[in-house]
Amino acid sequence: MKILVPVKRVVDYNVKVRVKSDHSGVELAGVKMAMNPFDEIAVEEAVRLREAGRATEVVAVSCGTSASQETLRAALAMGADRAILVETDVELQPLGVARLLKAVAEREQPQVVICGKQAIDDDANQTGQMLAALLGWPQATFASRMTFGEGVVNVTREIDGGLETLELKLPAVVTADLRLNEPRYATLPNIMKAKKKPLDVVAAGDLGVDIAPRLRQVRHAEPAARKGGVKVADVAELVNKLRNEAKVI
Ligand code: AMP
Repeated sequence: MKILVPVKRVVDYNVKVRVKSDHSGVELAGVKMAMNPFDEIAVEEAVRLREAGRATEVVAVSCGTSASQETLRAALAMGADRAILVETDVELQPLGVARLLKAVAEREQPQVVICGKQAIDDDANQTGQMLAALLGWPQATFASRMTFGEGVVNVTREIDGGLETLELKLPAVVTADLRLNEPRYATLPNIMKAKKKPLDVVAAGDLGVDIAPRLRQVRHAEPAARKGGVKVADVAELVNKLRNEAKVI
């Protein structure tokens, strides 16, 4: 079983992003970038499946500028076998990425694609769903558990009322939620080994799909700053403030 894992280069989750002064976007110059955290979980799941003998190959794929090679090396250091960069300088949106991933999936013929449930930069939560629709494959989003049977994958999802388990026929697209696993840290020897693993670069233009942006970002703004709190002497003062100042009771 071959597993394809799409990984996105995003602003590191520890960075406090700042809106550009002209409100056209967020400041990316000099900002630390990293693999999207949900994609690390997807890579971990795929690598565990290979280590358990259920998968034969784990292929990481990223769409973006040549800087995404760094993200792919991180996936290789975690244990992916090889990587594909679909290179483009075009600003990608979920539909464009889904089309590129479809072209890669048609070439690679994986039995399962494990995406992250969402990218923490655009928070779109769309790419995996669009990819499944374009391929005509079944999809299960927000996976917190995956088990494979004969030609099927069972995916458990956390829903409001509890847990839901879906059985999908392979090939399928699954998106990884936070509790699927805890991703490993790449060890230094594995980081060194990853430098020698194959990383193919494909020009997005050679895949013959339309990746032109469909959405225009109108304006970015910082959330309103929080006002400081106050200490109250007793419950009576708290109730008084809630009733007469905050007017919430
Ligand atoms: P999104 O729909 O943007 O929230 O992204 C959901 C998931 O799609 C991510 O967690 C990745 O697995 C995948 N994805 C999105 N953008 C890219 C990209 N540029 N390259 C590779 N995978 C991506």
